[in-house]
Amino acid sequence: MIINYSERLKKLPPYLFVEIDRKKKAAIEKGVDIISLGVGDPDMPTPKHIVEAMKQAIKKPAHHQYPFGAGIIEFRKAIANWYKERFNVDINPNNEIYSLIGSKEGIGHIHLAFINPKDIVLVPEPGYPVYNTGTIFSDGIAYFMPLKEKNSFLPDLESIPEKVSQKAKIIFINYPNNPTAATANPDFYARVVKYAKKYNIIVCSDAAYSEMYYDNQKPHSFLEVKGAKDVGVEFHSLSKTYNMTGWRLGWACGNPKVIQGLGKVKDNYDSGVFSAIQEAGICALTSSQKCVEDMRKIYQKRRDVFIGELGKIGWKVNKPQATFYVWAKTPVGYSSTATVSRLLDEAGIVCTPGNGMGPSGEGYVRFALTVKETRLKEAVKRISRINWKTKKCAL
Ligand SMILES: *Cc1c(COP(=O)(O)O)cnc(C)c1O
Repeated sequence: MIINYSERLKKLPPYLFVEIDRKKKAAIEKGVDIISLGVGDPDMPTPKHIVEAMKQAIKKPAHHQYPFGAGIIEFRKAIANWYKERFNVDINPNNEIYSLIGSKEGIGHIHLAFINPKDIVLVPEPGYPVYNTGTIFSDGIAYFMPLKEKNSFLPDLESIPEKVSQKAKIIFINYPNNPTAATANPDFYARVVKYAKKYNIIVCSDAAYSEMYYDNQKPHSFLEVKGAKDVGVEFHSLSKTYNMTGWRLGWACGNPKVIQGLGKVKDNYDSGVFSAIQEAGICALTSSQKCVEDMRKIYQKRRDVFIGELGKIGWKVNKPQATFYVWAKTPVGYSSTATVSRLLDEAGIVCTPGNGMGPSGEGYVRFALTVKETRLKEAVKRISRINWKTKKCAL
């Protein structure tokens, strides 16, 4: 029998991090001592009190049945209270929140609720690949908004052609940003609201890194600005905040009609988030947030060590104000992939080529600060031994 993949599957670019993981494993098999700064996956365990809450929750037979729907009301109330406390935004737990099996799940599914074939989705690039994947799966067309350093890595809404804006149904924004580590101020969010209202575009704000910030500079929520809830939703995740990437827990909140649409898709695809995990999520959101403060301190130290050491060997890198990424310009004359190759082959360092996350990422590499300080120092020591002038790589 001949088995053919669908056109939409054929259209998918290779999932970048799976590729990077494959290369990493191949190097490890060869016996290389790899320093992995590639995938953005926290290296620290989930805080103990959250694990304990899960241990208790899993014993309750009520959690052993299909969870269905938006999530248990106690989890949604915990989210609403956390939101009020953190952003001073009111969210109605009854109809403005939907629990997600990790925010990636919601980000990848939301298109199905609003995109008809050939509708346009505005996607930032470089960016998290799922905005585009969801577009391909819903037969939409992505219009890529370049994130350039000269615009502080914010999309230039004015430069989007009128015809594109008219056909666009969804715009994705992501601050604090993966991969550039840029943050957005309320001014930018207000411009997004104005633009979205003018053209009837649903705003999907991905705030997975809202709690991973430094120097006490708390990032804003899109929903803080006036009129935001009329036009969009925000995606949040417990993955990075509480070192819970493996648990799969997040939520979408905001405009009730948008939430309802996403819920319809989900109700037909999955049967909800394991409610014991939601109970652990309640524990995470309602307990002391000291563990989050501790997490920030660790990454801030790592950031300072890594940037400091890189500076000493002549790499000029912007200090990120949020996220655990360092978005670094490649050495003169080197493309992203050429840089990544030399770092892997000669220094055993895995990092992400900027162009792998979109063409405007060319000329950058992304380092994730997901190893201990001593390893970061070791990484820079190894980088310092590479003579970038010797071997000119083809661009
Ligand atoms: C990690 C990440 C997410 C979500 O992760 P989940 O584990 O699915 O909640 C979402 N957006 C960006 C930009 C991320 O880097």
